[in-house]
Amino acid sequence: MTTFADLGLSDAILRALSELGYEEPTPVQEQAIPPLIEGNDVIGQAQTGTGKTAAFALPIVQKILPQRVPQALILTPTRELAMQVAEAIFKYSKGSQIRVAPVYGGQPISRQLRALEQGVQVVVGTPGRIMDHMRRGTLALANIRMVVLDEADEMLNMGFIEDIEYILQQTPQERQTALFSATMPAEVEKLARRYTRDPQRISIVPEQLAVPRIRQTYYEAAPREKLDVLTRVLDVETPPAAIIFCRTRSEADSLGESLQARGYTAEVIHGDLAQTQRDRVMKRFRDGQVELLVATDVAARGLDIPDVSHVINYDVPNDPESYVHRIGRTGRAGRTGQAITIISPRERRQLQIIQRVTKSKLTHERIPTLADVAARRREAFKEALRNVLTEGDLDPYILMVEDMADEHDTTEVAAAAFKLLLNEVEQEDTLASVAGDGAGVEPGMTRLFLDVGRFDRVRPADIVGAIANEAGLPGKSVGSIDIYDRFSFVEVPSDTAQKVLRALNNTAIRGKALNVSVAKPKR
Ligand code: ADP
Ligand code: MG
Repeated sequence: MTTFADLGLSDAILRALSELGYEEPTPVQEQAIPPLIEGNDVIGQAQTGTGKTAAFALPIVQKILPQRVPQALILTPTRELAMQVAEAIFKYSKGSQIRVAPVYGGQPISRQLRALEQGVQVVVGTPGRIMDHMRRGTLALANIRMVVLDEADEMLNMGFIEDIEYILQQTPQERQTALFSATMPAEVEKLARRYTRDPQRISIVPEQLAVPRIRQTYYEAAPREKLDVLTRVLDVETPPAAIIFCRTRSEADSLGESLQARGYTAEVIHGDLAQTQRDRVMKRFRDGQVELLVATDVAARGLDIPDVSHVINYDVPNDPESYVHRIGRTGRAGRTGQAITIISPRERRQLQIIQRVTKSKLTHERIPTLADVAARRREAFKEALRNVLTEGDLDPYILMVEDMADEHDTTEVAAAAFKLLLNEVEQEDTLASVAGDGAGVEPGMTRLFLDVGRFDRVRPADIVGAIANEAGLPGKSVGSIDIYDRFSFVEVPSDTAQKVLRALNNTAIRGKALNVSVAKPKR
């Protein structure tokens, strides 16, 4: 396995990448970064979503000199891309303060002029607007050492060929040139050949891959709705054991936390965890104590993961191969499995590529509505009811029903009992609910939320101790305690809840001041 460190990147960049949660380079990054750092030209072909931005942006960040003059120029077909690339450079250069200016049509030219005057080092823009600035004399290209043509095929499709050639001709001869493109039609090839010198050629053409025969579906959701869509899907599917894949460590961490806060038993596993921690998580998952395993590709690769009923892609993976790896975790040994992918509209193209390369079809599913979720809960409720009926031991309750039968029809009594039990659940709007908690609270107890958890080295004894000492409650009156990574829940007798709340809010556990509130009910 190649790491970012193997590619010759500086410590500052490695730190930035680690903070972003990138675990390992994608294939195009692995092949393009070393030659670019060494000063070679590169012609790279790789599909959308394969990480081409970092492939050229990281070497640029590394090679920028302190002088406040434009040294790198990146041409992109659209303003959106220009902004994305500028943002990426900003993120990758965290700590080294590289000045980057996006330059594109549609934004007042005055703002861009100010940015350029203040001495930018990297300019990212659409060819038209770059030409504008060159004509006005507001963008000097004399010190440009690196030029990147990003999404070259798109730029040519949009008729930018003459602008591009003009711009390239105005940059110094001894510059380094890189061209990236998803496809290599003849015109792109010609352009590449004319303006690069002794280029390193990189082509990441995905091979045909065989996928296991399982049901593959996808849901489409805007990025900020993804979590809600995921929880609805989970509530309808009710997987006994599922793996949810994320692209980065940070994404996995934050998703794991959100799921825990919403009452799912979820644990996160990624490359940053020590072996003992991984083993512990995996044991809990195998034993069924954890229903959802949130994982990155790297973490999952090295693991002996048991067969699961569902694989969920919370992000579309960077390449079709990862997709196949991921979904291969379900449907083993002839069992039925399900692979579910949640995509944002921007990831449609990536999904098409995956379908083409894997020769499989993902069915577009409608996002479950609250009514679907409610219907599923009713089914689950009936199932639970059947179990209770089989178990028997109903005598005291039969007495209650007989008592009420004097006033009401027994069918109505049963219906009212169902309503009472299901009602609270159905009123909740999952879209609006935040950090609530799941498990049913014992009758007569109130569940409190504490903003300290495992990461603060909190143990149950600390919580019981604080409640006993600060609120004067006997330790044995404290109910169930759940400790998660960054927060915990504790149940206390309802008539003492206010007292405990006040007392805990004035104290600290393991040196950390507490913020305690009554836990919101789950869905
Ligand atoms: P392309 O330009 O090839 O279409 P991008 O550079 O836009 O692809 O990258 C697609 C997504 O993958 C982005 O969200 C980016 O942050 C993410 N990404 C890129 N490289 C990595 C990596 N090594 N590990 C994890 N995520 C990555
Ligand atoms: Mg790109």
